[in-house]
Amino acid sequence: MKKLSKTVAIGAAPPDRLPTDYLGVFTVESWREFLSHGGKVMGFNEKKAGIASRLFPGDRILCYLSKVSAFIGWMEVAGPSYIDAKPLWTDGLYPVRLPVRVMKGLALSNAVPIKSLQADLSFMRGLGGAGGWSIYVRSSPRRWSVADSAVVRDAVSRNAARALVESKKNANLPELERLITGKSVKVNFKTDSRVMRVIKKTEALLAQESAKVIGSYDKVLSFNKVTGYSVNVPIASTCRPTATCLQTCYFAKGAPSWKNSLKHQAAVQSLIKANCKAFAERVALEYDQSNLSFLRWNGGGDLFAESVSVINYLGRIRPDIVLWVVTRIPEFAAQIDELKNVFIHFSLDKHSLPRREQFLRLKPRSKNYFFSYQCEPDELPDPQRLGHAAVLFFDNYRPTGSVKPYKKEIVCPLNGKGDITETCVQCRRCFDGSAVAYEKSSSHK
Ligand code: SF4
Repeated sequence: MKKLSKTVAIGAAPPDRLPTDYLGVFTVESWREFLSHGGKVMGFNEKKAGIASRLFPGDRILCYLSKVSAFIGWMEVAGPSYIDAKPLWTDGLYPVRLPVRVMKGLALSNAVPIKSLQADLSFMRGLGGAGGWSIYVRSSPRRWSVADSAVVRDAVSRNAARALVESKKNANLPELERLITGKSVKVNFKTDSRVMRVIKKTEALLAQESAKVIGSYDKVLSFNKVTGYSVNVPIASTCRPTATCLQTCYFAKGAPSWKNSLKHQAAVQSLIKANCKAFAERVALEYDQSNLSFLRWNGGGDLFAESVSVINYLGRIRPDIVLWVVTRIPEFAAQIDELKNVFIHFSLDKHSLPRREQFLRLKPRSKNYFFSYQCEPDELPDPQRLGHAAVLFFDNYRPTGSVKPYKKEIVCPLNGKGDITETCVQCRRCFDGSAVAYEKSSSHK
């Protein structure tokens, strides 16, 4: 290790110098690596040797995550910069090293999206949705104004305080990676269905190509114009389809069944299995970045042990995040914790009505559940046989007869609608408590 330059003043700042503010840029990975090495050394590339040498102990560095565009904390410079060739980061050497002390750090799930500070940061104010501000967060160390730095540090402190309150509330949170007993999902059904075709396609694809790797710049959430953002996992390794699913599953045709979608779904499942907590934090970050007001869990695919762990963890640490969990698997649905912001939507059809009793016999941990009923093509079910469904879906959202026999409130507005764009965003019945309230009232009649 050698000192950076003999001509550069190092050590204590001049006595009359006030602490100066800078921005430090990380990726999600390099932030994790920084913490795993003790959170005491920041690195820059060779070209930054000059500016790094002008940082003094006590100067403040805001920690910004590039691409995800959020602040994860702030730190103070703890000593002079130096050159060191010891590898610390996987994406580069960054030999200009700076001793630092983290003053306030957040979990990814509580990071502060820069856009949430748009009204307060001087270089973003009045820009509306326009760009032009990204130059301020593109490189590091970059000098920032004291006022803008204070805005970020205040926001970080607010999120840290909120996280502390939540963690106290959750002091008895069972160990995250607890094992959830569930029977392994054995798929056994007809081979000439769209679901079977997509399962075979997924298996063949993953046998030929390694699963896509989702880097820190990729999104884990998917989007569709009807239900909005969702977590999607492969049908092939998670679903327990019924005969109705085989005929009607919307997720086994079109874009969700294309090669890239299948690879993304497989990668999402791998990430969930690899590290439940990290996945939960990543979902929280994307939820904040996209300014969502709800998130559908299982836009396609179904629950498995680790995804239940993620839901229980995320639902607790972020009670403001609304999770709409769609499932057909009683054992896993019953393991979801009672949380006000987590709504269990158990989907039934004429072949799976007994799953309602199976689910109830398992004494579900949460009372925040309801049932829906999915019709087969041309099916107009007997209203008495809907199994207390709080939401009714006709095949392809097209009823083949009058819907008058059914209670108006249970007929999903997607049925018979021309343009179904953003219907769930406007309706919200499945995740605003209305469907749960219907279930509670109807099951006592
Ligand atoms: S009832 Fe409302 S929220 Fe539920 S699926 Fe239909 S449109 Fe979406």
